[in-house]
Amino acid sequence: MTVRVGQGFDVHAFSDDPSRVLVLGGVIFEGEQGLVGHSDADVIAHACADALLGAAGLGDIGQHFPDTDPTWAGADSIDLLTEVAGRVRAAGFEPGNVDAAVVCERPKLAPHRDMMQTRLSLAVGAPVTVKGNRAEGLGAIGRGEGIACFAVAVVSAR
Ligand code: MG
Repeated sequence: MTVRVGQGFDVHAFSDDPSRVLVLGGVIFEGEQGLVGHSDADVIAHACADALLGAAGLGDIGQHFPDTDPTWAGADSIDLLTEVAGRVRAAGFEPGNVDAAVVCERPKLAPHRDMMQTRLSLAVGAPVTVKGNRAEGLGAIGRGEGIACFAVAVVSAR
């Protein structure tokens, strides 16, 4: 059995637009400042999608869902992730698992971790785990200007 690994990364800045909703791992964080983005700016879903695409050798999320394409404006990134998992399977690979490491000063992720993992896992069709880390005040993320996410995915050739 051939096993392949992929890495994904994404970062989005917090938005000044009060109408932007914060969506992380497919979960709405009520009362929190939203992120700037063409879609719903779900950094966790985006990093997971890039990790899966990388593992399958299918390029990156920008190639599959160009931000110049109005089809994906305001898109629910869980739908993008579901679509990515389908494209990975169509290319002959089965997702094994995805592990995401989120870096942010706020919000607290732990209260929503189980729901994020459930929504992401349903989209991928394999276990997705989410871990939170603070940047300890260092750099833009440490100043609370945005949220970053790293993800690793494993797929096996079917
Ligand atoms: Mg993104």
